[in-house]
Amino acid sequence: MATTRRPFVGGNWKMNTDLASAVELADDIVAACSHLADRCDIALYPPFPYLQVVGRTLGHHGFLLGAQDVYYQSNGAYTGEVSTDMLLDLNVKVVLVGHSERRHVLGENDELINAKLRAALEAGLQVVLCIGETLEQREAGDTNRVNVSQLMAGLRNVAPEQMGQVAIAYEPVWAIGTGQVASPQDAAAVHRIIRQSIADLYDDGTAEALRIQYGGSVNATNAAELFSEAQIDGGLIGGASLDSAKFKAIVEAAVGAN
Ligand code: PEP
Repeated sequence: MATTRRPFVGGNWKMNTDLASAVELADDIVAACSHLADRCDIALYPPFPYLQVVGRTLGHHGFLLGAQDVYYQSNGAYTGEVSTDMLLDLNVKVVLVGHSERRHVLGENDELINAKLRAALEAGLQVVLCIGETLEQREAGDTNRVNVSQLMAGLRNVAPEQMGQVAIAYEPVWAIGTGQVASPQDAAAVHRIIRQSIADLYDDGTAEALRIQYGGSVNATNAAELFSEAQIDGGLIGGASLDSAKFKAIVEAAVGAN
């Protein structure tokens, strides 16, 4: 890492835990990682029903309470959806948009993702825009085109002054939850393309300040090598974030690499 960008590690719990185990996991992560929170942004993304109780556990320990998704309308007849105001009520600071499971399992398209991202920014939330290619796209030599296209579509009509609220998570779909991690060099190459695209769309300062996380089977063993790449500013962690010891090792790797 070794840049002026502050490392950023997120734990995406997806549709895992129950009420008791969510509280226990949050407690364990606070105990394991709070001494690292002054050197790394650490976000936890529990399932929606547990946001409030996990938020209470995080208390004033310097962690960011995160939501796995958000809807772009402020209120009304949108059964099952959750608005930015509802998240703000619960002290949520950061939201994921465009996670590959939302794109590929729940069928979200770039237009919806962009609407969610802009609504979250307008509400003052931080946003992590997730992008990434499928295995077929990678094998067809389409990796850069797909990532740049998702990036541009996701950031459509985002003003330069809003970019301070945005981070990107590069998450190759074939690496998520599969145990197949991208090589640090391959991940860094895509991060470089993302940063260059931001420089082209905005300016060099915005690109240099932008934090780009890698996500996809990051674990306690491979994190240090990934984060040693200057382009990789931390990780978005799924499976390994459900284990406080593994998550702590990943946060330590992010802090150590900086
Ligand atoms: C994710 O959920 O964003 C993710 C990267 O999952 P995993 O770490 O399990 O591959």
